[in-house]
Amino acid sequence: MKYYLQTFGCQMNKSDSERIAFVLEKMNFKKTLHLSRADLVVINMCSVRQSAVDRVYGLIEKLKVRPSLKSSKKSSKVGPLIILTGCILPQDRKKLHDKVDLIFNIKDLPRILTSSRNLDSNNLRVKPLSLPKNYLEIAPLVSSFPSAYVPIMTGCNNFCAYCVVPYLRGREYSRSPFLILKEIKNLLAKDFKRIILLGQNVNSYQGEIKNKKLIEHLEVGPQGGPTSKITKTMNFSDLLKKIADLPGKFWLSFITSHPKDLSDELIEMVFSRKTNKICKYFHLPIQSGSDKILKKMNRDYTVKQYEKIIQKIRKTAKNKKIKVTISTDVIVGFPGETIKDFDKTASLLKKINYDMAYISKYSPRPLTAASKFKDNVNSFEKKRRQKKLFEILKKSALNNNKKYLNKEVDVLIMGDKKKYLPTGQADLFGETSAFKKVKINVKKDSLKKTKNLIGEFSRVKITKVTPWGLTGLLVPFY
Ligand code: SAH
Ligand code: SF4
Repeated sequence: MKYYLQTFGCQMNKSDSERIAFVLEKMNFKKTLHLSRADLVVINMCSVRQSAVDRVYGLIEKLKVRPSLKSSKKSSKVGPLIILTGCILPQDRKKLHDKVDLIFNIKDLPRILTSSRNLDSNNLRVKPLSLPKNYLEIAPLVSSFPSAYVPIMTGCNNFCAYCVVPYLRGREYSRSPFLILKEIKNLLAKDFKRIILLGQNVNSYQGEIKNKKLIEHLEVGPQGGPTSKITKTMNFSDLLKKIADLPGKFWLSFITSHPKDLSDELIEMVFSRKTNKICKYFHLPIQSGSDKILKKMNRDYTVKQYEKIIQKIRKTAKNKKIKVTISTDVIVGFPGETIKDFDKTASLLKKINYDMAYISKYSPRPLTAASKFKDNVNSFEKKRRQKKLFEILKKSALNNNKKYLNKEVDVLIMGDKKKYLPTGQADLFGETSAFKKVKINVKKDSLKKTKNLIGEFSRVKITKVTPWGLTGLLVPFY
């Protein structure tokens, strides 16, 4: 039996899909990259923007002829079973109910996929599995060696006016620091070299440790009281420190930080570590450069406060003579965004000189506070604004990348051209600690030895740059 798993949306969904894959493979399903060969299609949906929702409807439409678990009549032309999960709005759940075989809440992953009631009736062999009750503790089948996502929390309490995430993922929930450290130790033992901590807002991480032995083991110090009731919480900076203290050479980064919660302690931590493990990379979504719009978005910071954080990061980096990379998210065409508001965003983008920015056109989302505002910037104008910011980004990203020209940089080799690049473009593909994509050429005489470089750190001399990546020559070290 073959499964095809399609993931929409953010890194958290990608990480959830790795847990889905683990469960499916335990059930003896084998992965296929060809939709037409699948017996089971699992769609991990995203509803952050309408465009992602539309793509899911398109995919389901494509899978037209298929048997239904709900009906006893089977079509003569057998198609795959369709299972839907991820961030699904109630209205889409209703509409898609009859078009798919099963819709389940990702939190129910340990139960739903293994329940014989759901899959057995379609003659799929289902092996009873014993899985952790909490779906986040299911071991992921990591598909991005040597880099791995590790969710440290899920959900969100912020309720930004445009955002549907708190309605779909629920309130913030932080994983136990002990289990996070255990998962990372396992990954490092398997030679993973890049750990990316995930959360909608990692800075509000508060992991609970309830067991006295673990408190001592993690050296957080008990708070007193009867032993059985001891509970200690660990904040994000402490967790980061604990992870960075694990032995071995690896890169450690985190996404996403809400600007209102990025503490001085964390900035210090990122730059003050004696080791180089914590990457000097901050993803700090600004969303808008207009205080009026930020207030309407319920972002809880002003442009001035945001700029102050950026200054603090850059000043700390400068004092330590370390390069820092900053990226952001922006929404154009939020209800009430005038040309003047937009111009403020454009000037701010120019001023901050980002390395990368993810620029979205505002998409009204049901349930959210902003869905009650009039979506008064038309789609043509949203596109124009998006394009304008994109042009600004192109320049700042190129300027930032030019600083790498003729320099040697540390690169983690992710794969060879078979995996990543059309033939002829480069021999290897890698990433810098700041997530810059690097195409790597290798001198002919060392080409044969490059295969076993995948998953290793290497030095690359940068010879060419574009706004979106670097190209260089592998510096031989053998
Ligand atoms: N937790 C992260 C972002 C989660 S959603 C944070 O706090 O920044 C990822 C990005 O999608 C957001 O930063 C925002 O730029 C964009 N986004 C969210 N809702 C949107 C909407 N309704 N329309 C357009 N873009 C949206
Ligand atoms: Fe959405 Fe705001 Fe929460 Fe990010 S912080 S997930 S944008 S509500």
